[in-house]
Amino acid sequence: SIPLGYFGGIGSASRKGILVKGSNFLDALTQVKTVVFDKTGTLTKGEFIVSEVVTSNGFTKEEILEYAAYAETNSNHPVAKSISDAFGKDTDSKRIKQVDEISGHGIKAVIDGKTVLAGNDKLLHKENIEHPVCNVEGTVVHVAIDKVYMGYIIISDTLKDDAIEAIEKLKAKNIQTVMLTGDNQFAAAAFAKKLGIDKYFYELLPEDKVKHIETLMEESKGGKVAFVGDGINDAPVIARADIGIAMGALGSDAAIETADVVLMTDSPSKVSIAIDVAKRTRKIVW
Ligand code: ADP
Ligand code: MG
Repeated sequence: SIPLGYFGGIGSASRKGILVKGSNFLDALTQVKTVVFDKTGTLTKGEFIVSEVVTSNGFTKEEILEYAAYAETNSNHPVAKSISDAFGKDTDSKRIKQVDEISGHGIKAVIDGKTVLAGNDKLLHKENIEHPVCNVEGTVVHVAIDKVYMGYIIISDTLKDDAIEAIEKLKAKNIQTVMLTGDNQFAAAAFAKKLGIDKYFYELLPEDKVKHIETLMEESKGGKVAFVGDGINDAPVIARADIGIAMGALGSDAAIETADVVLMTDSPSKVSIAIDVAKRTRKIVW
């Protein structure tokens, strides 16, 4: 049978907006040695804003934004909304044929009968299109049309208000902090520095994130590894970690179902509060 104290612990967590799906996860939270965060939507607001458009091969900024906005019309990725906001007009669905959204890469679509790419270095590399490597702090969306490079769009995101505090509180508990992202090296490095995070890994596909979790679990020698994500293409990572934590307000249904712990508000600092509640509960139970 489950000791009564656990019900108290789960109740006390839930009053703080933290849903713990079982007493075993409260126990596991007391043994956390590493907390791994997804970047976009977890540590950052995921509210991207276009900050610059850089042209190439005689194309105009307007043409780059137009083709990118058309390619991104049906995407739910946060970068898609920022491009559509910057374009500022509705798209005409009759011009759009066949859209492929490639996870961790971007979009390949047929617009006006032409093949348009809007995505990162990996996407352009895969499609053999020469493009500059951009040493910028933001997320870069390269745009190409019928194999000709048009230029790139720089999109910036901002840290959540409590992101730095979230990392500080965990470090104060001697817990290792790690950030995983599909984003580029420069965006990752800039955020990692502001956060003071212990380790970060970039340009990762969802399956790479799973591998990193497995490696960190091996390295942690019995200490538990928690992963915190919003579930936009990281549900498999939430499932694999010792403790999968989903952000409830922004997160996807799949992530909330898979997760062991759900944070009802999108505040990364709730992770350290969850650990505090779990430790207090263990003292009562034992
Ligand atoms: P994160 O790991 O930061 O949550 P994602 O895994 O969602 O990021 O995406 C990784 C990268 O893939 C993005 O930074 C972006 O470069 C590219 N990408 C993904 N979806 C799109 C899209 N719809 N349009 C353009 N680029 C995209
Ligand atoms: Mg993500």
